[in-house]
Amino acid sequence: MKRLCILGSTGSIGTQSLDVVRMSQSIDELRYQVDSLTANKNTDIIEQQAREFKPRMVAMLDEKSANDLKIRLGDTDIKVYSGVEGICECAEADSSDTVINAIVGLAGLKPTLSALSAGKTLALANKETLVAGGHLVTDLAKKNNVPILPVDSEHSAIFQCLQAAPPNKALKKIILTASGGPFFGKTREELKSVTVEQALKHPNWDMGAKITIDSATMFNKGLELIEAVRLFDVTEDMIDIIVHRESIVHSMIEFDDNSILAQMGVPDMRIPIQYALTYPNRYSSPVEELDFRKHSNLSFFEPDYEAFDCLGICRKAVKMGGLYPAAVNSANEVANYKFRKGEISFLEIGEKIRKAFDIAPNVSYFTADDIFTLDEEIRRLI
Ligand code: NDP
Repeated sequence: MKRLCILGSTGSIGTQSLDVVRMSQSIDELRYQVDSLTANKNTDIIEQQAREFKPRMVAMLDEKSANDLKIRLGDTDIKVYSGVEGICECAEADSSDTVINAIVGLAGLKPTLSALSAGKTLALANKETLVAGGHLVTDLAKKNNVPILPVDSEHSAIFQCLQAAPPNKALKKIILTASGGPFFGKTREELKSVTVEQALKHPNWDMGAKITIDSATMFNKGLELIEAVRLFDVTEDMIDIIVHRESIVHSMIEFDDNSILAQMGVPDMRIPIQYALTYPNRYSSPVEELDFRKHSNLSFFEPDYEAFDCLGICRKAVKMGGLYPAAVNSANEVANYKFRKGEISFLEIGEKIRKAFDIAPNVSYFTADDIFTLDEEIRRLI
């Protein structure tokens, strides 16, 4: 029986993770116990989840929401914690063995470090954690000998393909697929006037607001490029990004003999979530089967690096290393939020992120505190 802590349980990945848990109840070998759940403010959803899954503890980032939840759950034995400390307490509790991190943004970094320090297997959706934390996260996982299992569909695809790698590895490149988002094919001129409403309409995936905007700017693919560098220990130039509109091929790897392995399936996050939980095994899933007859045209295109400048920004940041990936990640969090609030235009997102290169110090060694100090500075200046 796996005992799970689900961080960010009220969001898109969090609710789909609980759906996987729910679906697995009919499979004997796959019984999960939900040990803890966390969220920011959404007391309505977390209360329902707590009543259904009966965790030992829950935590809300927001103190007021935690107090409200304590009253709502007064008729149960569920302990309610608050703040970042409360969330970290859930992530490191002895009563769980696997942590799903589905928090959005840099806020996921402290709980990730807590989970890894406590030796938990980490099923990671929160890509910002790896992008900003870099070696802090990967070194800690190595030191404590705990796996980081990717939940992001592209990284899960690469990870699944790598299971078939030969003993000499012979990995030539990783081919990271991108849907291209709602603005695929638009020129920079046309992107000047796109609206928040248009940017929030992703063609293939139903996701939280922040990642949906990141997909529209393609900053999300830039984050994934950095995530792949960290997870698979490759250099940035070994990662080719290709636009694949249908999101059926979730990513590929190419070996030295030019043979390519791809992982495919319908675009449904419950497949990679389940694989992260059942790895190295596989079990049946109620997710729809892929019917190739319905997909006679799988298309592939070179990304437009000029219109979608966030891709180049992320390539540059990971090549420069040190705190630059953390800096562009923080700047994007600010710019993404401002765009959603109608304070800046779509193209100003990239302009704001570029400023991060002038703010970040050029260092090769850094601590978690350095990342949070830089984050504060960027939030103040951008
Ligand atoms: P959502 O916005 O839907 O959910 C975010 C979750 O995190 C919610 O539970 C939210 O609580 C909680 N949360 C928000 N802010 C904080 C904070 N400061 N501290 C603690 N908890 C917080 O996001 P998604 O589920 O879409 O994305 C989560 C992560 O997964 C992101 O890193 C994203 O890039 C990644 N990802 C998402 C995919 C998807 O299909 N959605 C696909 C691949 C990766 P509350 O509801 O109370 O606000």
